[in-house]
Amino acid sequence: MSILMLLTMAVELGADRVAVTAGDEQLTYGELLDRSRALGAQLREQGADNAALLDLNTAAFPVALFGAAAAGVPLAPLNYRLADERLTEAVGRLSPVAVYQGPGVSSRVAVGAADALLPTTALLGAPPAGTELPDDLADPESPAVLLFTSGTTGTPKIAILRHRHLFSYVTSTVEFGHAGPEEAIMVSVPNYHIAGISSVLGSVFAGRRIVQLPSFSPEAWVDTAAREQVTHAMVVPTMLARILDVLEERGETLPALRHLSYGGGRMPVPVVERAVGMLPHVDLVNAYGLTETSSTVTILGPQDHRDAIASSDPVVRARLGSVGRPVPSIELEIRDHDGRVLGPGEIGEVFVRGEQVAGEYTSHTAVADDGWYATRDQGHVDTDGFLFLRGRADDIIVRGGENISPEEVEDVLVSHPAVAAAAVVGVPDEEWGERVEAVIVLERGAADPSAELTGWVRERLRSTRVPSAVHLRDELPFNETGKLLRRVVREELSRVGVPS
Ligand code: ATP
Repeated sequence: MSILMLLTMAVELGADRVAVTAGDEQLTYGELLDRSRALGAQLREQGADNAALLDLNTAAFPVALFGAAAAGVPLAPLNYRLADERLTEAVGRLSPVAVYQGPGVSSRVAVGAADALLPTTALLGAPPAGTELPDDLADPESPAVLLFTSGTTGTPKIAILRHRHLFSYVTSTVEFGHAGPEEAIMVSVPNYHIAGISSVLGSVFAGRRIVQLPSFSPEAWVDTAAREQVTHAMVVPTMLARILDVLEERGETLPALRHLSYGGGRMPVPVVERAVGMLPHVDLVNAYGLTETSSTVTILGPQDHRDAIASSDPVVRARLGSVGRPVPSIELEIRDHDGRVLGPGEIGEVFVRGEQVAGEYTSHTAVADDGWYATRDQGHVDTDGFLFLRGRADDIIVRGGENISPEEVEDVLVSHPAVAAAAVVGVPDEEWGERVEAVIVLERGAADPSAELTGWVRERLRSTRVPSAVHLRDELPFNETGKLLRRVVREELSRVGVPS
């Protein structure tokens, strides 16, 4: 029940099939297993407690992931966008550790911070003849990966995902060996994020070829998808809008692409509608999940997208803005502050339970004894169980004692034809405690709609939700996995005298 088993099973389907392509590098399934076992042997010899990888998305990642498993130690994939000091600090928290650094990253861990600093080329060469290759050492209870949370809502924590969590996620969501020989998945979400990791694990188990995109730009994404005849891909919301712009400019439709999943942050409905219109041959999936739940817990599937688009029933149509229903292995409840389970339409906190739910950090365990995990996401379900997210608990605006979901107001702002994106936050206010303010980005070439936006919101929502100020910006702050950084907007607007 370790993740290495996912690879050994895939090798049995055919060791000569290509497992991963990254630029000029390519590894077959057999080569991936050999190199992973060789790394396992090496890590054991070094006596490392963990292995860390600092690299763009390359062929080194699957080797490091399965290699660490072969040694029975966890892999900590590091965020290469961090400044050198923060990286060094992160490595300090993992010690003792062997760090593999890729040639493509400019940030560096300070020499001396790790027990061994090695180049990723050491992971990719064929093991010397006679190397003793260990078998799978990992026990299902041992940690498989250590992931630094992005710290959207505070200081980064180190989340632990054990082998049994990842194994259970993959085996309950992916059919073993079902991929056709032509199938190739592009991994463009960073490998240090749970979405990048789960894409790799799921694809190995399915027997699919993984195409690693070293780092994201919409042009590189479209070029690679066309060149590699990519059939499957996973993107975060900010990526999709930019990819659609490039496709439109080039008049390209990517006929080989069949399946595109998106998630990691809130996807604006107009972008989904645009994707449906521009890529009618592609199955779209909205996947909602967290690091702590080994990725996806709910899915809005291809048929749900088609049903919503085709329907004139407002309830069904609205589902395009939902994150769908729980995957079969997950139980989901909405609860109020007192732990009471709420019914359809009632907003509360989203709780999940299932084999893949880890909810554990190096500092503490956040999962309850009965297995339920509080996601800190607010939301409600409709009568058919479709989940609508209403923002993270920490982002809820409290105006004069009334709880206001920023996402509800953002949805209405974005439904205005001139508004491309919106961020709504609570700004400290003497009278109300907090007042609602918005930052918007205009659609290309649109005239400034600020004068009419108040009326637009007032017609659609209660007056307490109407922003008392709307500020125009060229862009909103998103992190690299597509999350809107409301904290940054809030800090900016909370400074006195912000020009609008
Ligand atoms: P933290 O904020 O706790 O430091 P993080 O930002 O790294 O950590 P992740 O595990 O990457 O946390 O993100 C999980 C969160 O992303 C979910 O709780 C949810 O708010 C948001 N999210 C994930 N998928 C979706 C989706 N499909 N639609 C909307 N929001 C999503």
